[in-house]
Amino acid sequence: MLIATDCAQLSALAPSLFCLLLFANLDKFMVSSLNSQPTTATPFEHTLGTPLTKQPITVLQINLGRRCNLACTHCHVEAGPKRTEELSPQVCEQLVEIIRRFPQIETVDLTGGAPEMNYGFRPIAEAARVTGKTVIVRSNLTIFFEPGYGDLPEYFATHQLHVVASLPCYLEDNVDRQRGSGVYNASIRALQRLNHLGYGRIPKLGLDLVYNPPVPHDSNFYLTPHQANLEQAYKTYLKEHFDIDFNHLFTLTNLPIGRVKHSLQKKGLCQPYTKFLENHHNPNTVAHLMCRNQLSVDYLGNIYDCDFNQMEGVRSHLPDGTPISLSTLLQTNNLDVIQTIQTRPYCYGCTAGAGSSCGGALL
Ligand code: SF4
Ligand code: SF4
Repeated sequence: MLIATDCAQLSALAPSLFCLLLFANLDKFMVSSLNSQPTTATPFEHTLGTPLTKQPITVLQINLGRRCNLACTHCHVEAGPKRTEELSPQVCEQLVEIIRRFPQIETVDLTGGAPEMNYGFRPIAEAARVTGKTVIVRSNLTIFFEPGYGDLPEYFATHQLHVVASLPCYLEDNVDRQRGSGVYNASIRALQRLNHLGYGRIPKLGLDLVYNPPVPHDSNFYLTPHQANLEQAYKTYLKEHFDIDFNHLFTLTNLPIGRVKHSLQKKGLCQPYTKFLENHHNPNTVAHLMCRNQLSVDYLGNIYDCDFNQMEGVRSHLPDGTPISLSTLLQTNNLDVIQTIQTRPYCYGCTAGAGSSCGGALL
């Protein structure tokens, strides 16, 4: 068990832990390390006792590509400036057709990489807004300061895109350690620009922030902190220091995939961490899992149940086992073709504690 008496000690013991625990009740989030023999995680479906089934699709999440101006340590997409994978014009056309054809899609959620850097961002966002859908753009904020992207805040506001922005802490050192030098200051300036346009201040311009916990460095694992408490801490600090306003904070759990998995594997922590998540499985979260009503699309037009399955190459199937693509949806003229969601042991990251999703805690 980690024992520390003040925030400075905590910060020294584990990067970003200061941010995690500053306003939290330590007892709620600190969990004994798994020093006993690690065991393999139970298959997720065995724990559920039944296959995880799909509900009517209302959310289309599109991963436009792997290109990003940053290369964060926690990135499950393993995105970065050198990645070249992105949407093709043909896949873009299919997506626009699906957005137009299916009014049951209420939300189009654009992610990446930095979605703004990848082909198709603007045509897809505009097609979705014209048909009255909510469009979420998952922005890293620093993209505003890259050459050629300076007009993004105004573009977002003109089309009333809902901005969900990653800010893994409200303190500079912890953000720069996780995301790269200078990222914190650029993020603060970007948030001030968004506020100036009305984001986070007027109802039609939504601005949410995302908290990612630090990647575990040893076997002292922690559940993601209480979302409402941490949101209040972010709001107080950012308002007092920078006059920044935002709507909600989404707290996410690190799933053992992508760069997090590689980092855990190097330390022999991947299995213990997955088992830790399983040990904190909360059955009350299952009804709210984001994969229940979502389709996730990759830059090639393949369909998955969520972005995590997409990164692990676990495609969605028709009941006869045929992998699903955008062409399947257009040919069958039906979005509700998946019966059973593909699950893996990393799914425990979505059901541990209060649960986790692209929209934050589930409970
Ligand atoms: S900004 Fe987002 S997509 Fe880009 S590297 Fe960081 S976590 Fe990955
Ligand atoms: S990783 Fe999470 S969202 Fe994806 S299928 Fe598993 S439980 Fe659902």
